[in-house]
Parts: sequence; C-alpha cells; structure tokens
Amino acid sequence: MPFASLKLHPDLLKAVKELGFVRPTPIQEDAIPPALAGRDVLACAQTGSGKTAAFLLPIIHRLIEKPRRTTRALILTPTRELAAQILEDLNALAVHTPVSGAAVYGGVGMGPQEHAFRSGVDIIVATPGRLLDHFRMPYAKLAGVEYLVLDEADRMLDMGFLPDIRRVLRHIPTKRQTHFFSATMPQPIAVLANEMLKNPEQIRLQRQSAPAVGITQAVYPVPQDLKAALFVALLERNILREALVFTRTKHRANRLAEHLVRAGINAARIHGNRSQAQRTEALAGFKNGKYRVLVATDIAARGIDVEALSHVVNFDVPAVPDDYIHRVGRTGRAEATGDAFTFVAPEDEGELRAIERAINRTLPRVTLPDFDYRARPQARLEIPLAERIAAIRQRKSDERARSRAKAGGGQRKGEEAWAKRAPGASRPAGPSRSSGGRRPPTRSRS
Ligand code: AMP
Repeated sequence: MPFASLKLHPDLLKAVKELGFVRPTPIQEDAIPPALAGRDVLACAQTGSGKTAAFLLPIIHRLIEKPRRTTRALILTPTRELAAQILEDLNALAVHTPVSGAAVYGGVGMGPQEHAFRSGVDIIVATPGRLLDHFRMPYAKLAGVEYLVLDEADRMLDMGFLPDIRRVLRHIPTKRQTHFFSATMPQPIAVLANEMLKNPEQIRLQRQSAPAVGITQAVYPVPQDLKAALFVALLERNILREALVFTRTKHRANRLAEHLVRAGINAARIHGNRSQAQRTEALAGFKNGKYRVLVATDIAARGIDVEALSHVVNFDVPAVPDDYIHRVGRTGRAEATGDAFTFVAPEDEGELRAIERAINRTLPRVTLPDFDYRARPQARLEIPLAERIAAIRQRKSDERARSRAKAGGGQRKGEEAWAKRAPGASRPAGPSRSSGGRRPPTRSRS
C-alpha cells in the first residue's frame, strides 16, 4: 500500500517522502485510517514499529485542517528521551505545515516550557511528573485539548506513573480523541484503556512475541569476567562498527564505559543518574559519530532511536524476555536490518532459555575465533554486592567510632588524633569510598 492511499494532507506526504518512508508500516496502515476518521485507537506496538508516525500523522493532519492558537494535542510518554525523540519526529513530519510542538519534561528549566503553554503551541509532548508541576501554575491550561496520546502505557505502569496519568486526565476535556499505545496489555493497562477510550479501533492486540524481521541474533557464551574484553575485541576487529549496549545496572554501565575509554574507544553512557545535559550530549554524540558506543541501562534507553544503527548488544541477559524483544526490536528499524548480540555467562543460561521459549527459537551460539576465553581478566567490572555491603558496614562502624570519640571530648590523645584523620584513612584499601561507592577504575582481582 503506498502512503498516498492513506489520504493524508499533501504537506505530510511530502515530508514522509523526504524522510525516505516508502510505504506505511503495518501499524501505520491499521491505525491511521480510523484515526483520520476520528475514532479512538487502542494499539499494541513496540518501538521500531513506526508507532510514533502512526499517531503523529493523523493528529497533524487534523490540526492543519482547522488551525487555532491553543494547545490542542497532548502526548504523554514515560521518559525524557522518548519525549525529545517524539518532538524530533514531530518536527520532521510537520516541517511543511504550520503545526508547532514543544516538549515538557523534567531535568531542565521550567521557563521555556512555560512559554510553550503561554504561546499555545499546537502539540505538547510531556512526561507526566513535569506536566503536573506546570499544572500548579495558572498559565498551564489544557482545556483546549482535542487529541490525547498515551505512549508506552505499559512502561508508564512499570515506572509507577499510573496515578500521575489519572491526575493529568482531570486537567483535560473528556470530549477528545484518544490514541493509546502499549507494547503489552497487562491487566492494569487494559483497565486504564477501558477508562480512557470510547469504542476504540483495536489494533494488533495479539501480542507478536517475535522481534522484527531482518535482525540477525546471536549469543556469545562468555565467562562473566571476560565480557568487557570480548566486547572490546568485537569492536577492535570491526565486527561491531558501533553499538548500543545494555547493562543490567547503572553501576555496570559506568564501569563498562570507563573500561572502553581506557581501551581507547569513544564511549558515552546514559542512565538515570545522569543529568539531562549529559544524556542529551551522549545521545547526540552517538548519533553524530563522536561516540562509537553508547552504554545504557534499559529504562534510560527507552525510545532511543538511532537511524541505521547496526548493533544492539545485551551485555547482560535481560531478566525479562519482553525486554529482550523490545531492545532487539530497536535495531529492526522499519525496513533496516541490524544485528543483536547477547553475552551469556554460564549463570545466565536459565534466563536465556526463557527468552528462547518466548521467541520460540533457539539462538545460534557464536564464539569469536582466537579470543582467549581462558584469559585472566585485567580488571573486575563490578565489585560483588557482598563486598560492597561489607565496605559500607565498615564505613558506618568507623563513623560511629569517630562520633563516640568526639562525644567523649577527645580527652585521650590517641582518640583525638584518630578523630582528626580524613574519612576513610583508617581503612585498608578496599572498595568503599566516602563518595558513596564509586570505585577507582582499575582494581585487580584479589
Ligand atoms: P518508532 O516505532 O515510532 O520508534 O519508529 C521507528 C523508526 O522507523 C523511526 O526511525 C522512524 O523514522 C522509522 N519509520 C517510521 N515509519 C516508517 C515508514 N513508513 N517507513 C520507514 N521507516 C519508518
């Protein structure tokens, strides 16, 4: 089916063509006609399916038809990155139209966002928390909203946003058209959809439990301690040109990024503890080639969209099979192909088998020729939890001893001298630091 048969405004068709979209993706084919006809839409769609254009195109189309100087569409999305990405897609699709958009999310100043409300920008793309902050101010009125999108509803649930969404709903008219998108449809999401939608067109509610076609998936069995070395080897041999790599924790993301930089590879990280400026810089740098590797934790990376991304690497096996499908879907950009590698340590085999059951196939196991799978690792990527806890206990006990010494007035000379020492000075070199658990980059295996 060509795009032209979707009866979209010529200015939108022009933009779509310039973006190189040859034909609508299945979700676009199914969702756009009922949306243009004014129906509510309930759709199961994952990142990579073309879902963003599936809701943006009909909304922009309807906004062009009847221009007004007030905010008429609200798109709710779980993360800042996703909000920024949707705004980018909106700007690209609406480039030949007068329709304007703004993003409203936390971690940046309220001022420019206030301006968006006051000037009556057509479409606001928001995360729920920051939107509620604005609603406390008199300028933030969304009484003119006619179109509402709830994007990645299941992620909103995971992140605890459901109460916030219900609060936001109190600020917008009940008479509106609603687009509801979710990758999965667990019970609380189905309930919310039922509350928010009127006689919706239901699209692809049968969950497709296989990642997009065109992706070559492989598993690299590797001991836990050699994962970083294997990753560097794949980059050095250009088997990976660039990669979006997922780690299980923020801590591992930090350590892996440090390891890569030490190995001379330009890498950036993106996770919940990074400021908005740092995340934006990391993402922009990865897109423009400054960074060859972007290390991310799952939640922070939701919605990252990098054109022609060649590789996703699961440095750790995703604990939930759905996360695997979702992440791997990221390289399956409509029409493009990408590779997805998953590093599996012997202790992760059980989780891998759960993924293989979910996607209903066995993933090929691959070994890298001439890689020393029996090498002693140079540095540990992560200090085991038990050691970290022991270090924290030690620090606390030191602190208690110090305050006891102070409380005693420091009568005895020995105590006084001890209390004056810099924090941490009394401890043997160990993983704990007063900076809250950050460890120096290289610690050899004890
Ligand atoms: P999304 O699922 O919205 O994150 O979109 C995934 C990617 O597919 C984005 O990079 C879009 O620019 C791209 N895309 C969306 N629609 C199409 C299409 N009809 N043809 C080719 N690529 C598309």
